[in-house]
This record gives sequence, structure tokens and C-alpha cells, in this order.
Amino acid sequence: MKKLTIVVPALNEEEVLNNTLQRLLKIESKLIQAQILDHSSDILVVDDGSVDQTWKIIKHYHEKNKGIKGIKLSRNFGHQNALIAGLQATVISADLVVTIDADLQDDPETINEMINCFAGGAEIVYGVRNDRTTDTWFKRNSAGLFYKLLNLLGIKLIPNHADFRLMSQRAVKTFLQYKERNLFIRGIIPLLGFSTAKVYYKRTPRLAGKSKYPLKKMLAFAWNGITSFSIIPVRFILALGIFTSSLGAVMFFYSIITKWLGLTVHGWSSLMVSIWILGGLQMISLGIIGEYIGKIMTEVKQRPRYTIQSYLK
Ligand code: UDP
Ligand code: MG
Repeated sequence: MKKLTIVVPALNEEEVLNNTLQRLLKIESKLIQAQILDHSSDILVVDDGSVDQTWKIIKHYHEKNKGIKGIKLSRNFGHQNALIAGLQATVISADLVVTIDADLQDDPETINEMINCFAGGAEIVYGVRNDRTTDTWFKRNSAGLFYKLLNLLGIKLIPNHADFRLMSQRAVKTFLQYKERNLFIRGIIPLLGFSTAKVYYKRTPRLAGKSKYPLKKMLAFAWNGITSFSIIPVRFILALGIFTSSLGAVMFFYSIITKWLGLTVHGWSSLMVSIWILGGLQMISLGIIGEYIGKIMTEVKQRPRYTIQSYLK
């Protein structure tokens, strides 16, 4: 029988965590009773630097039930790093891992179906939302735009799949071999290969508490996803450069001809316009190049992706 670990990243989730843990425990114990999962199957909550009662709740559950484990990171490292911390901690012990958000927006009952797919041979099972009507208009549309943009840039993502997925031990091990600091998990997983499956579920509103992904974090997440996967923005600069230089050549002949025809000194405004436009383009280009150099800098430093402060095993 297989051991499952459910990894739950949590940042300030005191309002939902009780509920979440109870539901996950119920689902897991049913699967254990049905002898589908090994009785050592457990839940690992990764506290991503919460400042509320989250860690206290985890400790409380751990004392009552050793099937609930906790990792407390030393500060907020972000959702993606919290997930990596959880995967790293379980890779040796668990045969399969399910990652799920703490707010129960992803229907935990879907885990049953995921395990069926795993039993059928899939090593990565994606949870895909087939109904996002409960997300805000803005969230749905910005997410849609994001997928389109990434697709355009040659980054293949599974649309409407976030970080709710099942992975076999082998898939997790392979995933952890990707050592970049700016890890965009959703972009990496499809690169792993192995046989995959999708299960569909309805996304529900957050049970309680506020989203930990305000606009600023969402934009940073999207930008990070683009620049850590694609060099197309830099190539775009090259194309832009070639285009503007050809335009410059045309201007060159134009000015020679107007001079030859004795039509000079008109054109102060066109001069100003081109200076501003070109200045702007240059700044944008430098900004994009700078972004990539910044990425190189953070990769070269090889800083740890997270630091564990306490571990309730
Ligand atoms: N989260 C985290 N660290 C962060 C931000 C979020 O561990 O810096 C967790 C959060 O507790 C939740 C999950 O990541 O379990 C997804 O966050 P949230 O539900 O706020 O995002 P949304 O569903 O609004 O995109
Ligand atoms: Mg959520």
C-alpha cells in the first residue's frame, strides 16, 4: 500500500486551517480504511512565516494526531518556496504527494479521483478548474490573459491548473533536480515528462480569510514566470532594434533628399518626437535586459530557497 502525504502551504490561515485539516483528515482516513492508502499517510502543513495563530493550530493538531506534521519557515518565502519545502521534506518518505491550498478553494474530494488516476499509472495528476465563476471577474480575466501571453512566449502551461496536483515520488525527485532559485513550479512540471492525467473540479470561493495574492504579488508572479522561462522579450528587443535602425536609414535618405531640394529646417517636432520615442524604447530595452541580468545574479548567488525554523515530525 502507498503512503500519501498531503502538503498544504499556509500563510496566515487561522480562519480556515481547522476546517481544512479536519476535511483532509476525513478524506485520508477513508482512503486508509478502504486499504487504498497506507496507514502512515499524513498531512504536512508548511507555515510560510505566518504572524497569526496558524503555527499554534498546527502544533495543537500535531499533539493530538501524529498524522499531522508541520514545518515552520523562518519567514515568508512565498507560496512556491513553501511548496518546495514541503516536497523536499516528503520526497524520501512518501510514495505520492498531493499539494493543495489551505483555503479549500480546490475541492479536496478530488483527491480520491487523483489517486484513481495514480493507480491507473499516471505519475502526475493535474487538478484543473472547469468552473471559475466564483473567482472575481478580474482574477478570471487576468488569469486568462496570463495563460495566453505565456503561450505566445512559448511557455506551455496547463490552463486553469494551479498548484493542486498529485505527484509520484519519482516525479517529485525529478522535479527537485531543477535547481533554479526563481522556480516557477507550474512551468516546470510539464517539462518532467512521465505519464500525466487531468481531473476536473469546480473552484469554490475561499472558505474564510483573505487572498494572499494581492495584485502586486500576482503581477510579480506572472512577470517571474515569463522572465524565468522565456528569452523572447530580449529577442523582441533585437527585432525592435533592427526595425528602428531600418527606419533610421529611411530617415537618412529622406533628410538628404529634402536638403537637396532645399527644404531643410522644417522638422523640429519630428526630431523631438523621434528622440522621445527612441529614448523610451531604449529604456524599455535596458529594463528588460536588466531583468534578465538580475535573474542571473540571483541564480549565481545560490541562496537557499527557504529556511526551516521548526519541524514537527
Ligand atoms: N501562501 C503561502 N505563502 C504566500 C502566499 C500564499 O504559503 O506568500 C499560501 C496560502 O496560505 C494558500 C495558498 O498559498 O494556502 C494560495 O494562496 P491564496 O489562496 O491566498 O491565493 P489565491 O487562491 O487567492 O490565488
Ligand atoms: Mg486561494
